[in-house]
Amino acid sequence: MNQQHRELIDRDRKVTFHASTHLRDFAHGDAPGRVITGGKGIHIRDKDGREFIDGFAGLYCVNIGYGRTEVAEAIYQQALELSYYHTYVGHSNEPQIALSEKILALAGPGMSKVYYGLGGSDANETQLKIVRYYNNVRGLPQKKKVISRSRGYHGSGLATGSLTGLKAFHDQFDLPMAGILHTEAPFYYQRAAELEGMSEREFSQHCAERLEAMILAEGPDTVAAFIGEPVLGTGGIVPPPEGYWAAIQAVLAKYDVLLIADEVVCGFGRIGADFGSHFYGIEPDLITVAKGLTSAYQPLSGVIVGDRVWSVLEQGTAEYGPIGHGWTYSGHALGCAAALANLAIIEREGLTANAAETGAYLQRQMRSAFGDHPIVGNVRGVGMLAALEFSVNPEQREDFDPALKVGARIAAAALDENLIARAMPQGDILGFAPPLVATREEVDEIVARARRAVDRVTDELV
Ligand code: PLP
Repeated sequence: MNQQHRELIDRDRKVTFHASTHLRDFAHGDAPGRVITGGKGIHIRDKDGREFIDGFAGLYCVNIGYGRTEVAEAIYQQALELSYYHTYVGHSNEPQIALSEKILALAGPGMSKVYYGLGGSDANETQLKIVRYYNNVRGLPQKKKVISRSRGYHGSGLATGSLTGLKAFHDQFDLPMAGILHTEAPFYYQRAAELEGMSEREFSQHCAERLEAMILAEGPDTVAAFIGEPVLGTGGIVPPPEGYWAAIQAVLAKYDVLLIADEVVCGFGRIGADFGSHFYGIEPDLITVAKGLTSAYQPLSGVIVGDRVWSVLEQGTAEYGPIGHGWTYSGHALGCAAALANLAIIEREGLTANAAETGAYLQRQMRSAFGDHPIVGNVRGVGMLAALEFSVNPEQREDFDPALKVGARIAAAALDENLIARAMPQGDILGFAPPLVATREEVDEIVARARRAVDRVTDELV
């Protein structure tokens, strides 16, 4: 590491509180740091000038790849014209109007309006407020509980961290908060051994039955909404088992429970469809979007409100006056300008179709490289989302001793190969989510580097 880079990291250690970081080790120089200075396409570069393939597109968000001057130009032009004015009490800006039209056109029938925030967590916070407001206006003040899934990821605020079903996001924060419950994760691979002989379809039915039992135990008149990612993301990159969403939706419809599709990862092409909901036949009442909306060129999120909920929101303001919800930066002009430029690139370059086609290639190459690997228990994914789950005994689907930190060691070995893949936070799972611009050649390079990394750690373990 060159001196300049080392000095920057030393300064950083003294002053920055980093997300998801071992705070003591980082502050005291016992955990590594890195300063990223640039990127182009699927590559990023650090202060040493070392280049990495970013196999996780930042945090599955830089979908159009790095260094797209067209988006920078759109942000610049908008900043010259109008960088900001608030969007309270009916004020708007031109990019916001055009963006809402675009998002609703992509979302398809049944969706009515878009509310903007800055990130996935605040958008899901808005969802929770909408759900409460909705049932208060309908005269159902006791219908407020929200059901999420174990291993779901919906943010890391107090309420949204409660929706998240991962232990590390709850411990020491006194979460989850009251009124937020977690039902079974749609994770067939991990449960199949316990639920002997159950087919995927039967497992989906089992998940739906568990959900129904929870709703009945709580009382259907107390359960307001269910939230889920079309494909479980941070909880392990797990596509749903066959028939899952149809079975879940049948239960929700029976008990008048709203469905929130958290499309923060899947939205805008990642799995080869405009929305994960389209891909899996999900008909949500509310949709959360962020990440791929701007490919992270600006922070921007959205809540897409369906007709059924919108009509109640209108009724509510007719009865109670203007809605008491808003962020200073709702509908920020620079974010909306970035989103429009980003969505134009996705459309013009056919990146959603590329996520389907090159994504299918990625799935095939991962299966052929790791399908029979001695420490890989499961190779899974859809579109440009993939995961390897490691196992000490793939036949028995037996996990490694967590103390061995196999997932983290393989991610570190990948980094030595100049490949960024993400050790997912729960279990020994390595995640891949390359930018949607990745080519077949780039996919080959990702898989080859991953294979070398997995082999190296395998040699250390046996
Ligand atoms: N929802 C999902 C599905 C996510 O994956 C994330 C972040 O990874 C969020 C919500 C939270 O988004 P943010 O980190 O922008 O608050």
